[in-house]
Amino acid sequence: MDTGLGLQDYANPTWFTQFFRIVSYMPFDSNEAAINQLSRYGYKPEDVKHIILTHMHFDHIGGLSDFPYTKVHVYKKEYDAFIHRKGIISAAYVPRHIAHKPYFEFYEDTGETWFEFDAIKINGFDPEMYFIPMPYHTVGMCGIAIKTEGGWHFHCGDAAADLRRDDVPGWMMSLILGPYMPRLREFSARHPEIHMTASHMFLDFFGNQAGA
Ligand SMILES: [Zn+2]
Repeated sequence: MDTGLGLQDYANPTWFTQFFRIVSYMPFDSNEAAINQLSRYGYKPEDVKHIILTHMHFDHIGGLSDFPYTKVHVYKKEYDAFIHRKGIISAAYVPRHIAHKPYFEFYEDTGETWFEFDAIKINGFDPEMYFIPMPYHTVGMCGIAIKTEGGWHFHCGDAAADLRRDDVPGWMMSLILGPYMPRLREFSARHPEIHMTASHMFLDFFGNQAGA
């Protein structure tokens, strides 16, 4: 799911990445790039067959070009927002991140549900995976639900976050992330068996990650 920053971002960051790394205290170390983390586990880039995107902001897709032969699954509304960038906030969409022309597979709404969330089944996976559209942070922001041997994993992308900084008030976080946090916390409390994560988080974020 997502790639984080890629090698080109560490070598040649955009002004927006420079800004973001300062305000978010992002560790800016190319050892953190997915391609370098995977190689430490013995994987080559071509071993990665599928990348599923929560959304197309720079800090989520910068590494796509490190995996040029990988199929990229994306919600069509998010891809359209990336292509038709509008306004200052769209500086977080960086055209060069797809300059290598990734092999995209696009998804439209289907009317399916996963628990009480709207959902779109992702093609070709058994056990199954779903996009969970939670538009606000971007118009095509999706969580991703993955069925694993150990149960469901629900990755909430940037519909939730936990930066734990005293200088960022709650209203500003909901301005950036949208209205989903109360619903996601309530869902997490009702479903302690579901492992939940967010893109920017500490491990005990949802309170049910003991030992994670
Ligand atoms: Zn984002």
